[in-house]
Amino acid sequence: MSRQSLQLDPPDPAAAAARPDAPDASAWPALAQIVVIDDEPLNSVALKAFLQASGYQRVTRLTVSAAGTQALRDLQPDLVLLELALSGDGAFDVLQRMQDDRLLRHLPVIVLTAQDDRPSRLRALSLGAADFLVKPIDASELDLRLRNTLAAKAYRDGLAHTDQLTGLPNRESLLWQLNWALKHALRHGSVGAVLQLGLDRFGQINDALGPTIGDELLHAVAQRLVAGLRDSDTVMHRTAAPNALVLARGSGDEFTVLLPVMERDEDAALVARRMIERVAEPFAVAGQELYVSCRVGIAVFPGDSNDPDTILKLAGTAMRHARDSGAAPDAGPQFHSGRLNTRSLDRLTLERDLHHALEREEFRLHYQAQFNVVSGRLCGAEALVRWQHPRRGLLGPGEFIAVAEETGLIVRLGRWVLHEALRQLAAWRRDGQWLPQMSVNVSGLQLERPDFVDELRAELEASGVEGHSLCLELTESAIIDSGPQVIDMLARMKRLGLQLALDDFGTGYSSLTHLRRFPIDELKIDRSFVSDVCSSDTIAAITEAVIAMATRLGLRVVAEGVETEPQLAFVRASGADVFQGHLGARPLPAEAFAALLTVEALVVPEVALELQSH
Ligand code: C2E
Ligand code: MG
Ligand code: MG
Repeated sequence: MSRQSLQLDPPDPAAAAARPDAPDASAWPALAQIVVIDDEPLNSVALKAFLQASGYQRVTRLTVSAAGTQALRDLQPDLVLLELALSGDGAFDVLQRMQDDRLLRHLPVIVLTAQDDRPSRLRALSLGAADFLVKPIDASELDLRLRNTLAAKAYRDGLAHTDQLTGLPNRESLLWQLNWALKHALRHGSVGAVLQLGLDRFGQINDALGPTIGDELLHAVAQRLVAGLRDSDTVMHRTAAPNALVLARGSGDEFTVLLPVMERDEDAALVARRMIERVAEPFAVAGQELYVSCRVGIAVFPGDSNDPDTILKLAGTAMRHARDSGAAPDAGPQFHSGRLNTRSLDRLTLERDLHHALEREEFRLHYQAQFNVVSGRLCGAEALVRWQHPRRGLLGPGEFIAVAEETGLIVRLGRWVLHEALRQLAAWRRDGQWLPQMSVNVSGLQLERPDFVDELRAELEASGVEGHSLCLELTESAIIDSGPQVIDMLARMKRLGLQLALDDFGTGYSSLTHLRRFPIDELKIDRSFVSDVCSSDTIAAITEAVIAMATRLGLRVVAEGVETEPQLAFVRASGADVFQGHLGARPLPAEAFAALLTVEALVVPEVALELQSH
């Protein structure tokens, strides 16, 4: 085809008006991917310019040798314009390769040629060419043929790529997407996942209630899944956007979700959980309320496999494994591989449970007594949070505080702890059981909230406890990471009369400068020091020096984690004021702690005086 042979007239308006009235003929053709295969650059440049002038936005030129199966699969063309050169069999080879490929076989190819001989035409048509245009080509005719062919393809795609029952893309369509997503993942080093969802006992429902109701249920499940996935701001339809999520109908009672690119490892499990939760809600089908559960299997690519069919198969196997394992559906999805290991799943489960824990009132406070090292009298208590987990039992803060901080939940949790600790202190005092002081741990995230001091004031007022009876335990890093406004905030806390303790001293910066810069009243020497004072001379020397220095700065020193008599003797000799540890008492629930209070109540007023004298 020479440049002159193509008449580059603007498309005939009459031809445009004669556009076939296919469902998406108006919007879709402009976005159709058209691939021009021609070894003669002048031809393909001119053809591309013509197509673009006609409104086609996605036109790609390829040479015959570049038009390999993989290149075509990657481009996902909607239509191929193939130039049949006067010499050589290159174009026939392209047709043959496409015929041999399952995903390319049904692509429409329009052959453009100057060879109007019958054998060439028949050969091209027998190799699957959809149409044949002989040069010189009339631009309007080409435009019309393009539109007709694309409209026919759009209609066929609708049938071939859509599941008739649910209107979702079918497995064939999903394979296309998956193939593309896999290439993208390999090229960009990203990770994607395929989630295979199967309904439990669908066969039984179908048998018992009949296939019509079975079909209605599948339709309802599809709707539910579409809505559920759309909630997460995802796009559901066939699209080339790399992040778009695809929901497709597999065979029978199976649905498949493709996550072409996952931002975080947990994404697949999150989507799976959302699907499981959505399906678990009752369905109203044909006047009946139906309950169904489902299983989800997940395969990750690349990694689990680099072959689209295999990835689908692995996700299906994982799904069936989940079903056969006898685990409850709400145990979560089943991964084919260990890549997304149980840790990230456990963490996800924890995160989810933690969100409900506050409303379900699953948190508890335990109280650990603090004693004067000289008199042995009870002088305060530290409130330590626990989580009464519905399945896992009583959990210590080590198992959930970090997650609560990462998810920001610590702010609400901290508010609850403060409220509950003050309420308890006031309740004891009302009962005549005098506890001089309550210590509460405060997270850095709470310090970052500008209204934190107002909250403290409100809680003190509500409980009727005076400021000096409340000690806030802060860590150095929490103070430093909260930014410069923290100095002002600490000053405001002091104006409320609060006691401020620096917790875990020795584990972080351990800077004595901080002790001078911040209005701290108390220093808590971390138990990692206390536990070693009797076994390491170096630790003993450091601990002694820190206590001496802190005392000289006028701080009250609390030794944490005192478990033995020799440790107590050491911290007492070094000048610590208070000790806290298993030697004195373990953290106890309020009722058990109250017993401790009654015993010590007789001597408490003196201890209170002693504390105030510091
Ligand atoms: P922490 O504030 O340093 O609390 C002292 C920890 O040492 C407590 O652990 C306590 O049970 C433990 N402990 C006390 N005496 C001994 C002893 O003699 N031997 C040993 N081996 N351990 C002892 P727990 O309750 O597991 O708390 C751990 C950390 O969790 C706390 O360390 C604190 O940083 C954090 N935490 C606890 N409750 C809260 C809370 O309400 N809010 C915040 N933000 N953090 C909290
Ligand atoms: Mg503490
Ligand atoms: Mg501590």
